[in-house]
Amino acid sequence: MTEKKRFWIIKCPRCHTHQIADSRNKSKTCSQCSRRFEILDLPILASAKDAREARAIVADLKMPRTTASEPKVI
Ligand SMILES: [Zn+2]
Repeated sequence: MTEKKRFWIIKCPRCHTHQIADSRNKSKTCSQCSRRFEILDLPILASAKDAREARAIVADLKMPRTTASEPKVI
């Protein structure tokens, strides 16, 4: 059985909050600022096979690793 990545991690174009989007949907409303945007207009930062994995990725993106020599502020 092949697993398809169903959830995408994107960033709200207005407030830059990470959002989990279902890949079956075309648009999403930001949970933070209520801005509605087209998912396909935005770069997909990561994808996940389920909501749980997607949330883990978002948590990881929110907390950049401190081991990097040049921490990048997103
Ligand atoms: Zn937003």
